[in-house]
Amino acid sequence: MNFPIYLDNHSTTRLDDRVLEAMLPYLKDNYGNPSSKGHSFGWIAEEAVSNARSLIAKAINASANEIIFTSGTTESNNLAIKGIVGAYSKKKNHLITSAVEHPSVLEVFQLLRNSGFTVSILPVNKYGIIDLNKLRETISEKTLLVSIMMANNEIGTISPIAEIAEICHERSVLFHTDAAQAIGKIDVDVRKINADMISFSAHKNYGPKGIGALYLKKKFPSISLIPQINGGGQERNIRSGTLNVPAIVGFGKAMEITSEALQDENRTIKNLRDKLQMELFTKLDGIYLNGHPEKRLPNNLNISLEGVNIDLLLLELNDLALSTGSACASASPEPSHVLQAIGLNNSLLKSSLRFGLGRFNSKEEIEFTSQRVINAVKKIRAQNK
Ligand SMILES: *Cc1c(COP(=O)(O)O)cnc(C)c1O
Repeated sequence: MNFPIYLDNHSTTRLDDRVLEAMLPYLKDNYGNPSSKGHSFGWIAEEAVSNARSLIAKAINASANEIIFTSGTTESNNLAIKGIVGAYSKKKNHLITSAVEHPSVLEVFQLLRNSGFTVSILPVNKYGIIDLNKLRETISEKTLLVSIMMANNEIGTISPIAEIAEICHERSVLFHTDAAQAIGKIDVDVRKINADMISFSAHKNYGPKGIGALYLKKKFPSISLIPQINGGGQERNIRSGTLNVPAIVGFGKAMEITSEALQDENRTIKNLRDKLQMELFTKLDGIYLNGHPEKRLPNNLNISLEGVNIDLLLLELNDLALSTGSACASASPEPSHVLQAIGLNNSLLKSSLRFGLGRFNSKEEIEFTSQRVINAVKKIRAQNK
């Protein structure tokens, strides 16, 4: 076993060696700009990008011309929301989201609210799911866009996205979903889900950081997006800037591996997660599960431990790489907005721990982890007495 054991796969994942191998030629000899049409350096780069775009599209059953490369889910979320608002706000000014979204959605909605849009932030139940009837009631003639994440990055809850998309489309409302955590963990088929826009990143699936995509559904009439980065007109004029060829190649390879491995890999990861959960829940008292017991990502386990100061626990668990909530939230002392939204009381809010399992975790590591956590919790509780 290598220490510390990495259990923070919701924050980011280790680059797969096969992805690195695929990227290397494009970091060295094949350094052309895909926009250079006049020589072979450009053609080679263009072919690599085109190939990666097809692999990424295939993984989610989309067409290659529905994929727009961005720097990641944060940018894709910004582009989707601000892009739609920019294109259609003269007609409609109401936007809907949920209380458990990633800051790259919630902050954008907050900004739009401050500049005069009407924003509805739907509450969630104790599992982190919105009430679909409440969504139906909240949609009005003025509603332009609904943005609800597919799977939550803290508690792993999976939302009924296909149903939400249908409710939106019945009322001619556009629907966007942040699928950063879902893609690669559960089957994401754009033809079944029927969302208008889907955001995702490579680095949550063993690909490189700083590259992601926005899926933009091709339909008639086509969806207009106002670009948020203007320039040379790359990505069909929606997102300018020289394409990051090595990262795009890595993204393509990561998605290819992920879609081939999807079912087997996630069954294995789920078994390890279930084993960890079972061990902790049978050996410890005062332990609570956050998130939905079944409708949950196979790699997620978020728990609250009564009477345990989580900072002390993390210090005690210095050979495990874990986090208390999202990486973004961990930078600030504020308690998690997700755990608040699902109604956790103040003390449980401050005693929650997130495990994010991944491709490279072994059975031995998970057995070691459960024993370490059990011992550390018992030790801290004994000191409290
Ligand atoms: C990680 C994550 C993001 C941000 O992705 P970046 O690649 O850092 O831009 C957005 N939403 C969710 C749900 C995430 O898990």
